[in-house]
Amino acid sequence: MQINIDSKSGFCFGVLNAISVAEKYLKKYGTLFCLGDIVHNNKEIERLRNLGLIVIDHNDLERMFNTRVLIRAHGEPPSTYETARKNKIEIVDASCPVVLKLQSRIHKSHLEMKETDGQLVIFGKEGHAEIVGLVGQTNNKAFVIGSDFKGIEKIDFKKPVTLYSQTTQDKESYRKLTNLLLSKIKTHCTTQQKDSKFKSFNTICGQVSNRGPHLTEFAKKNDIIIFVGGKKSSNGKYLFNICRQNNPSSYFISEKGDLNNDWFKNINSVGVCGATSTPMWLMEEVAKEIETLVKAKINS
Ligand code: SF4
Repeated sequence: MQINIDSKSGFCFGVLNAISVAEKYLKKYGTLFCLGDIVHNNKEIERLRNLGLIVIDHNDLERMFNTRVLIRAHGEPPSTYETARKNKIEIVDASCPVVLKLQSRIHKSHLEMKETDGQLVIFGKEGHAEIVGLVGQTNNKAFVIGSDFKGIEKIDFKKPVTLYSQTTQDKESYRKLTNLLLSKIKTHCTTQQKDSKFKSFNTICGQVSNRGPHLTEFAKKNDIIIFVGGKKSSNGKYLFNICRQNNPSSYFISEKGDLNNDWFKNINSVGVCGATSTPMWLMEEVAKEIETLVKAKINS
């Protein structure tokens, strides 16, 4: 039986960068505080914890002084930088450059929209760390609409609307939301006015959206798919669904202990892949365990 690890799965450059910054500081100082989980993957968090990384939350930050804190790839709202400044905390900023650019675009749009009494809408998951950072750029005024499109009735369609997306969202759902908002805007303006009343910027990161077509092919090529990801990972859920749509024998696991012997009966190939927050070492560990399970079965 062939076991294929998807070479394109694994950390995106934003997460890779945050982890290498953390490792650099850990090597130098032996310990480092990180605001929130550095990556949505418990196994990688455990590895970094063993190196000295200590995860804190915003309440902890309020109570800390004269120390050093890492900001992960998701980014943070301006209030976090303000707390750090007040408490004389050195920020080690490992925010992903793509997220920082989006924060600055949203901030600029927010200032422009103030002049036209417009509304800023962000397609994303309410409460997700990246969303908190993005909404913070608008003084917490932006509307957040999730994939169930709930809350859309709060938007006043007589006023201009500008739409952005969280970087890890699904392209197809973003397209559907764009069409839905546009249809509502059109009921309150003429066709000529619609371009000035509605602007939509697909800001889904290429590191996520490019993986969809690739995983479609990967899922079709293998008899079964073992998708390795953290339960809290948004893009993990999205990418796993793509695998499942293209190969019904797709299984989501978080570590090698979740593997089930029965999945490997009468098959010729297994594809092992993962989210942008899944470390390559974990996929390799899972592949090795599959090999051991299969060998044990043959010899039994
Ligand atoms: S998915 Fe894209 S935007 Fe998000 S951390 Fe990775 S590289 Fe940055």
